[in-house]
Amino acid sequence: MSAIRYKTPLIIVFLLGCALPAEAADPQVDSFYKAAEELRAKYADDLEQLAKWCQSHGLTDQAGQTRRALGPNDPYKLYIPVLPEKVGPPKLPNDAPADVAQWNEKFNKLRREHAAELFDLARRAVRRCPSLAYMFALSAIHADPDNEPARRLFGYQKYHNRWCTFYQIRQLRSDKVWHERFGWLPKSHVRRYEQEQRYTDGRWISADEDAREHRNIRSGWDVRTEHYTIRTNHSIETAVQLGEKLERLYRIWSQIFIRYYASEAYVIGLFDGRGRTRRTELPRLSVVFFRDREDYNRTLQAAMPNIGKSIGFYLERTRTAYFFAGEDYADRTLYHEATHQLFHQSRRVAPGVGGRSNFWIVEGIAMYMESLRQQDGYYVLGGFDDVRMHAAQVRLLRDDFYVPLEEFTTYGMKRIQSDPRIATLYSQAAGLANFLVYYDGGRYRDALVAYLSAVYTGRDTPGTLAELTGAGYRELDKQYRQFMEF
Ligand SMILES: [Zn+2]
Repeated sequence: MSAIRYKTPLIIVFLLGCALPAEAADPQVDSFYKAAEELRAKYADDLEQLAKWCQSHGLTDQAGQTRRALGPNDPYKLYIPVLPEKVGPPKLPNDAPADVAQWNEKFNKLRREHAAELFDLARRAVRRCPSLAYMFALSAIHADPDNEPARRLFGYQKYHNRWCTFYQIRQLRSDKVWHERFGWLPKSHVRRYEQEQRYTDGRWISADEDAREHRNIRSGWDVRTEHYTIRTNHSIETAVQLGEKLERLYRIWSQIFIRYYASEAYVIGLFDGRGRTRRTELPRLSVVFFRDREDYNRTLQAAMPNIGKSIGFYLERTRTAYFFAGEDYADRTLYHEATHQLFHQSRRVAPGVGGRSNFWIVEGIAMYMESLRQQDGYYVLGGFDDVRMHAAQVRLLRDDFYVPLEEFTTYGMKRIQSDPRIATLYSQAAGLANFLVYYDGGRYRDALVAYLSAVYTGRDTPGTLAELTGAGYRELDKQYRQFMEF
């Protein structure tokens, strides 16, 4: 699972992106899809009218803001809005002109109503098509970040005028605060931490002394975030930053792949907001972050003889992901290995996942998740502007390199990892993973999640993907080429 540095050429939501399942002919699913399109068209219309009203009143900024509310619309990317913490839309200044106040009221009403309609549709769609329901819910929370059922679905509740997770509320109730440098701290410790004092083993010492005490990874700091414990001998601050990125990945991954680790009944219950006081707790995840490459190599050499070639890896045996600070550190590696970890640890999996066949998807999906980045108020996944997709396009369209799925699905881990064409095979895997997420409005997205479940639980055969998508491999090969010719 290690992230080896390959010589990949570095040439480089649609929010209503309705995920049609394989059996798109299902009239009920089709009706959800159409209903969503109609809702979006009506919302676009209403926003446009309001924008025009703004223009006729000389409110240029407000017109722009109104138009932008529809959100980006690239069907080959998944956009997850960055949500505000504070409850309620931003308040206008007291001396705001009357027409601005009027616009604000209309604008918020439009957003609230659209979100409510979308969430209602999500609730109705979830039994037939969970990925479609998820997209509707995502669009609902984008339109109105204060839509309560959508907030609850995504694990938030109101606490002192903020949207908080259960974990955050527990921390706050025990008199802790989140500090952007030091993470969760007892409120009473903040001032001394900011004065470069540290509390360890029941006593206060200087930050320098603290750093000396934690210099060895075996006695490193353990920084805890909501779902992760990060052991490091680099610094508390870096572990906190790492923790924020990991939590972001966790949140997004656990929404997209919810049917990988949770039952249908559980997911339906979530959408219905029924009887839950806490989210399904996945086990706490363990990450080790070394202060430099040398320390990483030295400590892990015994567990992994090729350690010098890696820039991070997830080790199944210790259920831990390992990384190090320095110029070789990359968020992509972090997200890639942490994705392997999430698939391994969120449910019971078979030993030697992908050992016999279908190994490509294990790497393909990790390469998809490593595209996670923040852009213009959204977390974004995938897209033809991502380096992995670019490489996949070059291999297929320029080099005419392609291993047909009928053959590719028979490759197990050793077959791919010992192949001299490994970098090219990885590029193809990245391209195919994106294809399964986005092709034709996401028609294979639920099949992809089912495929991952089959592979990770060892119930897969080389024919599994064809069965789940309801398409023959030759057809999928053809569709993949069309998709990549974008
Ligand atoms: Zn990997």
